[in-house]
Amino acid sequence: MFHRFSLGEMAATIVSDGPLTLDAAPKIFSGPPAEALDAAMVAAGLPTDRVRVEQNCLVVDTGGRRALFDNGLGSRKLYGRQSGKLLESLAEAGIDPASIDALVLTHAHTDHCWGTMSDAGTPNFPNAQIYLAQAELDFWTSNPPGQKRERSIEGVKRHLLPLRDRIHFVRDGEEFLPGVQAWTTPGHTPGHLAYLFAGGWCLTGDVAFHHPISYVFPEAESAYDVDPVLGAATRRRALDRLAADKLQVVGYHQPWPGIGRVEREGGGFRFVAASDAPC
Ligand SMILES: [Zn+2]
Repeated sequence: MFHRFSLGEMAATIVSDGPLTLDAAPKIFSGPPAEALDAAMVAAGLPTDRVRVEQNCLVVDTGGRRALFDNGLGSRKLYGRQSGKLLESLAEAGIDPASIDALVLTHAHTDHCWGTMSDAGTPNFPNAQIYLAQAELDFWTSNPPGQKRERSIEGVKRHLLPLRDRIHFVRDGEEFLPGVQAWTTPGHTPGHLAYLFAGGWCLTGDVAFHHPISYVFPEAESAYDVDPVLGAATRRRALDRLAADKLQVVGYHQPWPGIGRVEREGGGFRFVAASDAPC
């Protein structure tokens, strides 16, 4: 599944790796009562028993470079059977993986970088340089304790360390590709980066991964954040900026194809999907 659009002056395509099925919202978020979380799901027209999130990978052509932002879960079915579609979606869109010369990561969780290597241990994007924050690689290679972290540690060993000589560490504010700037947004993971694009666009990664809960309750702490307190503070700060600056947003886990903007609502926010985005 793919969706073509113009991101500022860049030709862009969202390619799907397929949706993930997660636990019900009250098992992920703490702070607001379970009834309030369920009510927000119902108000958004969503079921309360499970959370389903998309994986919207972005491809942009900029200044002679072709960049893919995040690359899905690969062949592993950790969150339901519908993921692992990225290569298929790229083929549907007519994008040759060998034409990708920049593989840009928001962070190194399973669902963002496990499409880097094939099951045979060869790079799926053979000509790509890899971009991420040094704090991200440093964290996952320091063997941080915690049961839920084992998969990410294993994934970094399998998908990123064999390509260590292709990694360029991106610094906050660095324009590492023409018209693309990194924005340090720690909390979900220590080295999480969002990306700002010329023309008033932002790719948010997992700063606010859940529609609608991350927006209605930005202060709710998420079980998926490595540092839930910092994650909530960063989410509030980032959503404030996205709303105030009226940026167009590409959200990795937002409803397909993940394009929209953020508005203030009540004490929180809402994600407003772009109305003209057909599948
Ligand atoms: Zn994610």
